[in-house]
Amino acid sequence: MQEYRLLPLNFRELDNKQVVISNLTNNYMLLESKEVLNQVVDGYAPAALRHHLEEGSFIASERDFESKVKLTTAAYAQLLRKDLLGQRLIMIVPTLRCDHSCTYCQVSRANQNETGFDLPSTTIPQIIEFIKRVEKPPYKIEFQGGEPLLAENFIKEFYTQFEKAVGSQNFSIIIASSLSLLNDDFLDFAKNRKIGFSTSIDAGHYAHNKHRKLITKNSFELMRDSVNKISQVLGGGRVGSVTTITKEGKDYHNDLVDVHLNLGLQDLFVRPVSPFGFAANRATSVLSNKEFVDFLRSLILRLVDEYHSGSVIIEHFFFIHYKRLINAAQGGYVDLMSPAGYAKQSLIIDYTGNIFGSDEARMIFRRHGGNQLILGNVKQPSATLDTHFSHDLLSSSFNFDIPGCNECVYQTACGSDPIYHLQEQGEPIGNKSESAFCDLHKRVFDLVIELMDNPINNSVFEKWLEYE
Ligand code: SF4
Repeated sequence: MQEYRLLPLNFRELDNKQVVISNLTNNYMLLESKEVLNQVVDGYAPAALRHHLEEGSFIASERDFESKVKLTTAAYAQLLRKDLLGQRLIMIVPTLRCDHSCTYCQVSRANQNETGFDLPSTTIPQIIEFIKRVEKPPYKIEFQGGEPLLAENFIKEFYTQFEKAVGSQNFSIIIASSLSLLNDDFLDFAKNRKIGFSTSIDAGHYAHNKHRKLITKNSFELMRDSVNKISQVLGGGRVGSVTTITKEGKDYHNDLVDVHLNLGLQDLFVRPVSPFGFAANRATSVLSNKEFVDFLRSLILRLVDEYHSGSVIIEHFFFIHYKRLINAAQGGYVDLMSPAGYAKQSLIIDYTGNIFGSDEARMIFRRHGGNQLILGNVKQPSATLDTHFSHDLLSSSFNFDIPGCNECVYQTACGSDPIYHLQEQGEPIGNKSESAFCDLHKRVFDLVIELMDNPINNSVFEKWLEYE
Protein backbone atom coordinates (compact mmCIF):
# COMPACT_ATOMS: atom_id res chain seq x y z
CA MET A 1 0.00 0.00 0.00
CA GLN A 2 1.25 3.51 -0.85
CA GLU A 3 2.21 5.60 2.17
CA TYR A 4 2.31 8.98 0.46
CA ARG A 5 0.87 10.94 -2.44
CA LEU A 6 3.01 12.29 -5.21
CA LEU A 7 3.01 16.04 -5.83
CA PRO A 8 3.58 17.41 -9.38
CA LEU A 9 7.20 17.20 -10.53
CA ASN A 10 9.31 17.49 -13.68
CA PHE A 11 12.40 15.36 -14.35
CA ARG A 12 15.42 15.04 -16.64
CA GLU A 13 17.95 12.27 -17.12
CA LEU A 14 21.53 13.56 -17.16
CA ASP A 15 24.37 12.19 -19.31
CA ASN A 16 25.64 10.12 -16.36
CA LYS A 17 22.14 8.53 -16.01
CA GLN A 18 21.34 10.31 -12.76
CA VAL A 19 17.93 11.98 -12.78
CA VAL A 20 17.22 15.49 -11.58
CA ILE A 21 13.70 16.25 -10.37
CA SER A 22 12.14 19.63 -9.63
CA ASN A 23 8.81 21.24 -8.81
CA LEU A 24 7.12 24.63 -8.81
CA THR A 25 8.58 25.53 -5.42
CA ASN A 26 11.98 25.61 -7.22
CA ASN A 27 13.27 22.64 -5.24
CA TYR A 28 15.72 20.32 -6.97
CA MET A 29 16.85 16.84 -6.06
CA LEU A 30 19.21 14.38 -7.70
CA LEU A 31 18.18 10.71 -7.90
CA GLU A 32 20.62 7.95 -8.73
CA SER A 33 18.73 6.54 -11.73
CA LYS A 34 15.48 6.30 -13.65
CA GLU A 35 14.68 3.18 -11.64
CA VAL A 36 14.71 5.23 -8.43
CA LEU A 37 12.45 7.81 -10.10
CA ASN A 38 10.04 5.02 -11.02
CA GLN A 39 10.01 3.81 -7.42
CA VAL A 40 9.22 7.35 -6.22
CA VAL A 41 6.43 7.79 -8.77
CA ASP A 42 4.97 4.34 -8.04
CA GLY A 43 4.76 5.10 -4.32
CA TYR A 44 7.71 3.01 -3.15
CA ALA A 45 10.44 5.61 -2.66
CA PRO A 46 13.52 4.20 -0.86
CA ALA A 47 13.22 4.89 2.87
CA ALA A 48 16.48 6.89 2.91
CA LEU A 49 15.00 9.40 0.44
CA ARG A 50 11.56 9.92 1.90
CA HIS A 51 12.45 12.65 4.33
CA HIS A 52 14.23 14.67 1.58
CA LEU A 53 11.38 14.11 -0.85
CA GLU A 54 8.88 15.31 1.71
CA GLU A 55 11.01 18.30 2.67
CA GLY A 56 11.30 19.25 -1.01
CA SER A 57 7.50 19.00 -1.48
CA PHE A 58 7.80 16.13 -3.95
CA ILE A 59 5.62 13.83 -1.83
CA ALA A 60 3.16 14.37 1.02
CA SER A 61 1.19 12.25 3.40
CA GLU A 62 -2.53 12.02 2.73
CA ARG A 63 -3.12 14.33 5.69
CA ASP A 64 -0.68 17.02 4.46
CA PHE A 65 -1.46 16.77 0.77
CA GLU A 66 -3.90 19.70 0.44
CA SER A 67 -1.75 22.07 2.49
CA LYS A 68 1.36 21.10 0.48
CA VAL A 69 -0.48 21.90 -2.76
CA LYS A 70 -1.40 25.33 -1.38
CA LEU A 71 2.16 25.91 -0.20
CA THR A 72 3.48 25.01 -3.66
CA THR A 73 1.15 27.52 -5.28
CA ALA A 74 2.17 30.23 -2.84
CA ALA A 75 5.89 29.52 -3.34
CA TYR A 76 5.46 29.68 -7.10
CA ALA A 77 3.62 33.00 -6.85
CA GLN A 78 6.57 34.32 -4.83
CA LEU A 79 8.98 33.22 -7.57
CA LEU A 80 6.98 35.02 -10.23
CA ARG A 81 6.78 38.09 -8.05
CA LYS A 82 10.57 38.15 -7.69
CA ASP A 83 10.97 38.23 -11.48
CA LEU A 84 8.29 40.88 -11.87
CA LEU A 85 9.94 43.30 -9.46
CA GLY A 86 13.39 44.81 -9.56
CA GLN A 87 15.23 47.76 -10.95
CA ARG A 88 15.80 48.52 -14.61
CA LEU A 89 19.31 48.97 -15.95
CA ILE A 90 19.24 52.08 -18.17
CA MET A 91 21.84 51.89 -20.92
CA ILE A 92 22.88 54.91 -22.97
CA VAL A 93 24.81 54.78 -26.25
CA PRO A 94 26.42 58.23 -26.51
CA THR A 95 28.18 57.25 -29.73
CA LEU A 96 28.31 54.40 -32.21
CA ARG A 97 31.86 55.35 -33.17
CA CYS A 98 34.61 52.98 -32.11
CA ASP A 99 38.41 52.71 -32.36
CA HIS A 100 38.14 48.88 -32.53
CA SER A 101 36.61 46.77 -35.29
CA CYS A 102 35.97 43.52 -33.44
CA THR A 103 35.24 40.44 -35.51
CA TYR A 104 32.13 39.65 -33.46
CA CYS A 105 30.80 43.19 -33.07
CA GLN A 106 27.01 43.08 -32.75
CA VAL A 107 25.99 46.61 -33.68
CA SER A 108 27.63 47.69 -36.96
CA ARG A 109 29.90 50.28 -35.36
CA ALA A 110 30.98 53.49 -37.08
CA ASN A 111 34.56 54.60 -37.69
CA GLN A 112 36.23 56.75 -35.08
CA ASN A 113 36.09 60.01 -37.06
CA GLU A 114 32.70 59.66 -38.72
CA THR A 115 29.97 62.18 -38.05
CA GLY A 116 26.27 61.63 -37.41
CA PHE A 117 26.68 58.80 -34.92
CA ASP A 118 26.64 60.71 -31.63
CA LEU A 119 23.92 61.74 -29.18
CA PRO A 120 24.15 65.54 -28.95
CA SER A 121 24.71 66.83 -25.41
CA THR A 122 21.59 69.00 -25.87
CA THR A 123 19.57 65.78 -25.36
CA ILE A 124 20.93 65.26 -21.83
CA PRO A 125 18.08 67.14 -20.04
CA GLN A 126 15.54 65.14 -22.08
CA ILE A 127 17.26 61.84 -21.21
CA ILE A 128 17.31 62.75 -17.53
CA GLU A 129 13.62 63.68 -17.56
CA PHE A 130 12.81 60.42 -19.34
CA ILE A 131 14.77 58.34 -16.80
CA LYS A 132 13.04 60.05 -13.90
CA ARG A 133 9.67 59.45 -15.54
CA VAL A 134 10.08 55.70 -16.09
CA GLU A 135 12.30 54.54 -13.21
CA LYS A 136 12.81 55.07 -9.49
CA PRO A 137 16.08 55.70 -7.64
CA PRO A 138 18.66 54.37 -7.04
CA TYR A 139 19.26 54.52 -10.80
CA LYS A 140 21.67 52.13 -12.47
CA ILE A 141 23.12 53.70 -15.61
CA GLU A 142 25.48 52.05 -18.06
CA PHE A 143 27.22 53.73 -21.00
CA GLN A 144 27.64 51.44 -23.99
CA GLY A 145 28.93 51.96 -27.51
CA GLY A 146 30.53 52.06 -29.88
CA GLU A 147 33.31 53.14 -27.57
CA PRO A 148 31.78 55.41 -24.91
CA LEU A 149 35.13 57.01 -24.08
CA LEU A 150 35.06 58.64 -27.54
CA ALA A 151 32.19 60.64 -26.03
CA GLU A 152 33.80 61.37 -22.67
CA ASN A 153 32.56 64.98 -22.63
CA PHE A 154 28.99 63.72 -23.01
CA ILE A 155 29.50 61.33 -20.08
CA LYS A 156 31.00 64.05 -17.86
CA GLU A 157 28.18 66.45 -18.71
CA PHE A 158 25.54 63.77 -18.10
CA TYR A 159 27.08 62.90 -14.73
CA THR A 160 27.13 66.54 -13.61
CA GLN A 161 23.54 67.24 -14.68
CA PHE A 162 22.22 63.91 -13.35
CA GLU A 163 23.88 64.48 -9.98
CA LYS A 164 22.15 67.87 -9.74
CA ALA A 165 18.80 66.36 -10.77
CA VAL A 166 18.68 63.25 -8.55
CA GLY A 167 21.43 63.61 -5.92
CA SER A 168 24.82 61.89 -5.82
CA GLN A 169 23.60 59.10 -3.53
CA ASN A 170 20.85 58.05 -5.94
CA PHE A 171 22.76 56.61 -8.88
CA SER A 172 25.84 54.79 -10.07
CA ILE A 173 27.40 54.63 -13.50
CA ILE A 174 29.23 51.86 -15.33
CA ILE A 175 31.16 52.52 -18.53
CA ALA A 176 31.42 49.49 -20.83
CA SER A 177 34.70 50.16 -22.61
CA SER A 178 37.71 48.44 -24.15
CA LEU A 179 39.70 51.01 -22.06
CA SER A 180 42.11 51.62 -24.95
CA LEU A 181 41.30 55.36 -24.87
CA LEU A 182 41.22 55.90 -21.11
CA ASN A 183 43.20 59.06 -20.29
CA ASP A 184 44.42 60.74 -17.11
CA ASP A 185 41.89 63.53 -17.38
CA PHE A 186 38.95 61.10 -17.35
CA LEU A 187 40.50 59.08 -14.53
CA ASP A 188 40.79 62.27 -12.55
CA PHE A 189 37.10 62.99 -13.22
CA ALA A 190 36.15 59.49 -12.01
CA LYS A 191 37.91 60.06 -8.66
CA ASN A 192 35.37 60.45 -5.84
CA ARG A 193 32.52 59.80 -8.26
CA LYS A 194 30.43 56.63 -8.54
CA ILE A 195 31.91 55.50 -11.82
CA GLY A 196 32.95 51.93 -12.54
CA PHE A 197 34.14 50.19 -15.70
CA SER A 198 33.21 46.98 -17.44
CA THR A 199 35.86 45.84 -19.89
CA SER A 200 36.46 42.97 -22.27
CA ILE A 201 39.14 40.42 -21.47
CA ASP A 202 39.07 37.49 -23.84
CA ALA A 203 40.58 34.11 -22.98
CA GLY A 204 44.13 34.10 -24.33
CA HIS A 205 46.16 37.22 -25.36
CA TYR A 206 46.33 35.89 -28.90
CA ALA A 207 42.55 35.46 -29.20
CA HIS A 208 41.95 38.87 -27.60
CA ASN A 209 44.16 40.72 -30.12
CA LYS A 210 42.93 38.60 -33.02
CA HIS A 211 39.26 39.39 -32.45
CA ARG A 212 39.41 42.81 -30.77
CA LYS A 213 41.02 44.48 -33.72
CA LEU A 214 43.06 47.64 -33.47
CA ILE A 215 45.44 48.85 -36.19
CA THR A 216 48.19 48.73 -33.56
CA LYS A 217 47.30 45.10 -32.67
CA ASN A 218 47.71 45.75 -28.94
CA SER A 219 44.16 45.84 -27.59
CA PHE A 220 45.05 43.39 -24.79
CA GLU A 221 48.11 45.35 -23.65
CA LEU A 222 46.19 48.68 -23.64
CA MET A 223 43.39 47.10 -21.57
CA ARG A 224 45.90 45.62 -19.11
CA ASP A 225 47.70 48.97 -18.65
CA SER A 226 44.41 50.83 -18.14
CA VAL A 227 43.10 48.34 -15.56
CA ASN A 228 46.36 48.73 -13.61
CA LYS A 229 46.06 52.52 -13.81
CA ILE A 230 42.43 52.44 -12.59
CA SER A 231 43.49 50.35 -9.58
CA GLN A 232 46.37 52.74 -8.78
CA VAL A 233 44.35 55.95 -9.15
CA LEU A 234 40.82 54.89 -8.10
CA GLY A 235 41.51 51.83 -5.95
CA GLY A 236 40.24 48.26 -6.31
CA GLY A 237 36.74 47.10 -7.11
CA ARG A 238 36.12 49.57 -9.96
CA VAL A 239 36.49 47.13 -12.88
CA GLY A 240 34.44 44.11 -13.90
CA SER A 241 35.21 42.03 -16.96
CA VAL A 242 33.28 40.30 -19.72
CA THR A 243 34.94 37.48 -21.63
CA THR A 244 33.86 36.22 -25.04
CA ILE A 245 34.96 32.64 -25.69
CA THR A 246 35.94 31.79 -29.26
CA LYS A 247 37.54 28.74 -30.87
CA GLU A 248 40.95 30.40 -30.48
CA GLY A 249 40.41 30.93 -26.74
CA LYS A 250 38.69 27.71 -25.74
CA ASP A 251 41.83 26.08 -24.28
CA TYR A 252 42.89 29.17 -22.34
CA HIS A 253 40.85 29.04 -19.15
CA ASN A 254 44.04 29.00 -17.06
CA ASP A 255 45.39 32.03 -18.91
CA LEU A 256 42.12 33.86 -18.24
CA VAL A 257 42.33 33.14 -14.51
CA ASP A 258 46.01 34.17 -14.39
CA VAL A 259 45.21 37.49 -16.09
CA HIS A 260 42.48 38.20 -13.53
CA LEU A 261 44.80 37.26 -10.65
CA ASN A 262 47.55 39.52 -12.02
CA LEU A 263 45.16 42.44 -12.47
CA GLY A 264 43.55 41.93 -9.06
CA LEU A 265 40.07 41.40 -10.54
CA GLN A 266 37.65 39.34 -8.49
CA ASP A 267 34.73 39.08 -10.92
CA LEU A 268 34.50 37.67 -14.38
CA PHE A 269 31.65 36.85 -16.72
CA VAL A 270 32.15 34.51 -19.66
CA ARG A 271 29.81 34.15 -22.61
CA PRO A 272 29.79 32.55 -26.04
CA VAL A 273 29.87 34.77 -29.14
CA SER A 274 26.55 36.60 -29.25
CA PRO A 275 24.05 35.23 -31.78
CA PHE A 276 22.50 38.71 -32.11
CA GLY A 277 22.69 41.46 -34.70
CA PHE A 278 25.74 41.63 -36.93
CA ALA A 279 27.69 39.07 -34.88
CA ALA A 280 25.32 36.41 -36.24
CA ASN A 281 27.02 36.73 -39.65
CA ARG A 282 30.53 36.09 -38.36
CA ALA A 283 30.35 32.51 -37.28
CA THR A 284 33.91 31.39 -38.03
CA SER A 285 35.09 31.48 -34.42
CA VAL A 286 31.84 30.45 -32.77
CA LEU A 287 32.01 27.55 -30.32
CA SER A 288 29.29 24.96 -30.05
CA ASN A 289 27.31 25.11 -26.80
CA LYS A 290 28.99 21.86 -25.76
CA GLU A 291 32.48 23.32 -26.30
CA PHE A 292 31.49 26.43 -24.38
CA VAL A 293 30.18 24.43 -21.42
CA ASP A 294 33.33 22.25 -21.44
CA PHE A 295 35.35 25.48 -21.17
CA LEU A 296 33.09 26.65 -18.35
CA ARG A 297 33.56 23.38 -16.44
CA SER A 298 37.37 23.65 -16.62
CA LEU A 299 37.21 27.30 -15.59
CA ILE A 300 34.94 26.71 -12.58
CA LEU A 301 37.07 23.79 -11.35
CA ARG A 302 40.17 26.00 -11.55
CA LEU A 303 38.33 28.73 -9.58
CA VAL A 304 37.36 26.18 -6.92
CA ASP A 305 41.07 25.29 -6.61
CA GLU A 306 41.94 28.99 -6.44
CA TYR A 307 39.46 29.46 -3.60
CA HIS A 308 41.16 26.71 -1.63
CA SER A 309 44.54 28.39 -2.29
CA GLY A 310 43.20 31.67 -0.88
CA SER A 311 42.18 33.59 -4.04
CA VAL A 312 38.57 34.47 -4.67
CA ILE A 313 37.53 34.89 -8.29
CA ILE A 314 33.85 34.46 -9.13
CA GLU A 315 32.58 33.59 -12.60
CA HIS A 316 29.11 35.08 -12.83
CA PHE A 317 27.54 33.34 -15.84
CA PHE A 318 27.78 29.98 -14.06
CA PHE A 319 27.04 31.57 -10.69
CA ILE A 320 23.78 33.16 -11.90
CA HIS A 321 22.53 29.72 -12.97
CA TYR A 322 23.57 28.35 -9.57
CA LYS A 323 21.73 31.14 -7.74
CA ARG A 324 18.60 30.62 -9.83
CA LEU A 325 18.65 26.90 -8.94
CA ILE A 326 19.08 27.40 -5.22
CA ASN A 327 16.58 30.26 -5.24
CA ALA A 328 19.08 32.77 -3.85
CA ALA A 329 17.77 36.25 -3.16
CA GLN A 330 20.27 37.76 -5.61
CA GLY A 331 19.30 35.53 -8.54
CA GLY A 332 18.04 38.22 -10.94
CA TYR A 333 19.47 38.18 -14.47
CA VAL A 334 17.81 39.76 -17.47
CA ASP A 335 18.20 36.69 -19.74
CA LEU A 336 16.87 34.24 -17.15
CA MET A 337 13.54 35.64 -16.11
CA SER A 338 9.99 34.49 -16.46
CA PRO A 339 8.29 36.70 -17.51
CA ALA A 340 11.23 37.89 -19.59
CA GLY A 341 13.43 40.79 -18.51
CA TYR A 342 12.92 42.62 -21.83
CA ALA A 343 11.82 46.26 -21.24
CA LYS A 344 10.96 45.65 -17.58
CA GLN A 345 14.55 44.98 -16.43
CA SER A 346 16.44 46.95 -19.06
CA LEU A 347 16.08 49.88 -21.43
CA ILE A 348 18.61 51.24 -23.87
CA ILE A 349 18.71 54.70 -25.43
CA ASP A 350 20.77 54.62 -28.60
CA TYR A 351 22.67 57.44 -30.33
CA THR A 352 19.54 58.47 -32.28
CA GLY A 353 17.54 58.87 -29.07
CA ASN A 354 15.50 55.75 -29.87
CA ILE A 355 14.56 53.64 -26.85
CA PHE A 356 14.70 49.82 -26.97
CA GLY A 357 13.71 47.17 -24.41
CA SER A 358 17.11 45.47 -24.44
CA ASP A 359 20.52 45.71 -26.06
CA GLU A 360 19.62 42.70 -28.21
CA ALA A 361 16.50 44.49 -29.50
CA ARG A 362 18.72 47.43 -30.52
CA MET A 363 21.06 45.05 -32.39
CA ILE A 364 18.22 43.31 -34.20
CA PHE A 365 16.76 46.67 -35.20
CA ARG A 366 20.13 47.81 -36.63
CA ARG A 367 20.37 44.64 -38.68
CA HIS A 368 16.80 43.82 -39.68
CA GLY A 369 14.70 46.93 -38.89
CA GLY A 370 11.29 46.49 -37.24
CA ASN A 371 9.76 49.74 -35.99
CA GLN A 372 7.76 48.00 -33.27
CA LEU A 373 11.07 47.40 -31.45
CA ILE A 374 11.35 51.17 -30.90
CA LEU A 375 9.56 51.96 -27.64
CA GLY A 376 9.94 55.74 -27.94
CA ASN A 377 12.48 58.49 -28.54
CA VAL A 378 13.91 60.72 -25.83
CA LYS A 379 13.81 63.72 -28.19
CA GLN A 380 10.01 63.64 -28.27
CA PRO A 381 8.41 66.05 -25.77
CA SER A 382 7.58 64.19 -22.53
CA ALA A 383 8.91 60.96 -24.03
CA THR A 384 7.57 57.84 -22.42
CA LEU A 385 7.34 54.16 -23.36
CA ASP A 386 5.05 52.70 -25.99
CA THR A 387 4.42 49.45 -24.13
CA HIS A 388 1.97 47.92 -26.59
CA PHE A 389 4.51 45.61 -28.25
CA SER A 390 6.41 44.82 -25.03
CA HIS A 391 3.15 43.88 -23.25
CA ASP A 392 2.40 41.38 -26.00
CA LEU A 393 5.93 39.97 -25.79
CA LEU A 394 5.99 39.77 -22.01
CA SER A 395 2.55 38.22 -21.67
CA SER A 396 3.74 35.31 -23.79
CA SER A 397 7.00 34.90 -21.86
CA PHE A 398 5.85 33.01 -18.74
CA ASN A 399 7.60 29.72 -19.27
CA PHE A 400 5.06 27.70 -17.25
CA ASP A 401 2.83 27.79 -20.33
CA ILE A 402 5.45 27.82 -23.09
CA PRO A 403 5.54 24.47 -24.95
CA GLY A 404 8.73 22.64 -23.97
CA CYS A 405 9.39 24.82 -20.91
CA ASN A 406 6.12 23.76 -19.25
CA GLU A 407 7.48 20.27 -18.66
CA CYS A 408 11.17 21.15 -18.33
CA VAL A 409 12.95 20.32 -15.09
CA TYR A 410 14.61 23.78 -15.12
CA GLN A 411 11.40 25.69 -15.70
CA THR A 412 11.39 27.67 -12.45
CA ALA A 413 15.09 28.59 -12.61
CA CYS A 414 15.29 29.34 -16.31
CA GLY A 415 13.80 32.23 -18.24
CA SER A 416 12.50 33.01 -21.65
CA ASP A 417 14.01 35.30 -24.24
CA PRO A 418 11.34 36.44 -26.70
CA ILE A 419 13.76 38.73 -28.58
CA TYR A 420 16.18 35.87 -29.25
CA HIS A 421 13.39 33.62 -30.54
CA LEU A 422 11.95 36.47 -32.60
CA GLN A 423 15.29 36.78 -34.40
CA GLU A 424 16.01 33.06 -34.71
CA GLN A 425 12.60 31.54 -35.26
CA GLY A 426 10.42 34.47 -36.33
CA GLU A 427 8.15 34.46 -33.30
CA PRO A 428 8.69 35.15 -29.59
CA ILE A 429 7.82 31.80 -28.00
CA GLY A 430 10.02 29.62 -30.19
CA ASN A 431 10.38 25.89 -30.62
CA LYS A 432 12.55 24.85 -27.68
CA SER A 433 13.73 21.64 -29.32
CA GLU A 434 15.54 23.76 -31.94
CA SER A 435 16.50 26.71 -29.74
CA ALA A 436 20.19 27.39 -29.11
CA PHE A 437 19.12 29.58 -26.15
CA CYS A 438 17.39 26.57 -24.58
CA ASP A 439 20.26 24.20 -25.38
CA LEU A 440 22.84 26.53 -23.83
CA HIS A 441 20.97 27.19 -20.60
CA LYS A 442 19.95 23.55 -20.19
CA ARG A 443 23.61 22.53 -20.50
CA VAL A 444 24.70 25.14 -17.96
CA PHE A 445 22.02 24.05 -15.48
CA ASP A 446 23.15 20.43 -16.00
CA LEU A 447 26.70 21.55 -15.23
CA VAL A 448 25.58 23.31 -12.04
CA ILE A 449 23.77 20.15 -10.86
CA GLU A 450 26.84 18.04 -11.73
CA LEU A 451 29.31 20.28 -9.88
CA MET A 452 27.03 20.92 -6.89
CA ASP A 453 26.84 17.18 -6.33
CA ASN A 454 30.45 17.33 -5.12
CA PRO A 455 30.46 18.83 -1.58
CA ILE A 456 33.92 20.36 -2.13
CA ASN A 457 32.64 22.40 -5.06
CA ASN A 458 29.35 23.20 -3.40
CA SER A 459 30.98 24.60 -0.27
CA VAL A 460 32.93 27.05 -2.47
CA PHE A 461 29.75 28.16 -4.30
CA GLU A 462 28.11 28.76 -0.91
CA LYS A 463 31.11 30.88 0.12
CA TRP A 464 30.88 32.90 -3.11
CA LEU A 465 27.41 34.03 -1.99
CA GLU A 466 29.05 35.94 0.85
CA TYR A 467 30.83 38.16 -1.70
CA GLU A 468 27.60 39.37 -3.32
S1 SF4 B 1 14.26 27.40 -22.31
FE1 SF4 B 1 14.83 25.21 -22.34
S2 SF4 B 1 16.01 24.93 -20.42
FE2 SF4 B 1 14.84 26.83 -20.20
S3 SF4 B 1 12.89 26.21 -19.23
FE3 SF4 B 1 12.54 26.21 -21.45
S4 SF4 B 1 12.90 24.11 -22.06
FE4 SF4 B 1 13.88 24.36 -20.04
